[in-house]
Amino acid sequence: LYNEVQDLKGNIRVFCRVRPLGVTGDSSAGCSEIGEEGELAVYNPRGGQRKLYKFDKVFGSDSSQEEVYEDTKALIRSVLDGYNVCIFAYGQTGSGKTHTMAGSNMEDYDGRGINYRALDDLFSINEQRRGEAEYSVRVQLLEIYNEQLRDLLDTSRSGKRLDIRNTERSGLNVPDAIQVDVGSREEVLHVMEIGARNRAVAETKMNERSSRSHSVLTVIVDGISHVTGQRTHGCLHLIDLAGSERVGKSEATGERLEEAKHINRSLSALGDVMAALAARDAKHVPFRNSKLTQLLQDSLCGQAKAMMFIHIAPEESSYGESVSTLGFGARVSEI
Ligand code: ADP
Ligand code: MG
Repeated sequence: LYNEVQDLKGNIRVFCRVRPLGVTGDSSAGCSEIGEEGELAVYNPRGGQRKLYKFDKVFGSDSSQEEVYEDTKALIRSVLDGYNVCIFAYGQTGSGKTHTMAGSNMEDYDGRGINYRALDDLFSINEQRRGEAEYSVRVQLLEIYNEQLRDLLDTSRSGKRLDIRNTERSGLNVPDAIQVDVGSREEVLHVMEIGARNRAVAETKMNERSSRSHSVLTVIVDGISHVTGQRTHGCLHLIDLAGSERVGKSEATGERLEEAKHINRSLSALGDVMAALAARDAKHVPFRNSKLTQLLQDSLCGQAKAMMFIHIAPEESSYGESVSTLGFGARVSEI
């Protein structure tokens, strides 16, 4: 069906997205420049050589949500054929991860990110194929904070601990997680509101928790062909990662230090897993080193496909973080 996906070389794609200058109130000048065919150069504001990185593609600061979705869509549609797909947003806090995944302004149709566009797209394909095939779509929304899993769709506030059980290749390994059937954009928005409210409750205790936790929206698609009777099952994981910034030893104490340690550990575990997959070293993929990689294990091995958006804050003040983010991207890239 979506054979174009099969033609993508390799199973991991790494895209870089540079957000516009100044939108976060930082008035320093820019220190990056987009080159040809997936190249991004960064300059050290204190002088020295420019560094050049190459990815599958670089989206500049003027790239629209629609353009980004255009290059993501083939991969997303492969869940209809029963593939498991992971899409990650990586980068320091303020670099545009949530803008790419959820979007910045829900009222504005053009501002919507990959999460909403993906679901809309799946609904409209279901509509187009009516008669030939039928798909049911469910969503699950989890948060990983300090290596603990929480169900953002659980409104009972039971605080129930969720466990991961890797037993099959279904892409779903949290048996107690709530899954909600969705069939329309309105239903999706409603479910996301529940998630956002649930998350806000936790945020009052520690402000800004969302930048220090990973959020994993999973879209589960079960299909049946009316022509052949064949069934398909695929999972799409849309992951807004915790901010990758290094926290200075002096500023981090107590709770903040604990969070930083967990984030560091889980992002490096993710980097190790992706690098092993990119190198096709299937025997040595260290899934067990973090909750995040355990959660996605079924979906990252075998036939699975992954895409990572590396986000860059273009201001000079972020040069150090940008180099570290680009280094992470380069390591997991197959190029
Ligand atoms: P993160 O989730 O990485 O912390 P955000 O997505 O919240 O970062 O982005 C930080 C700010 O920059 C937000 O106000 C967001 O609307 C804005 N922003 C990020 N990327 C873009 C973009 N590509 N175009 C316009 N505004 C953006
Ligand atoms: Mg965010």
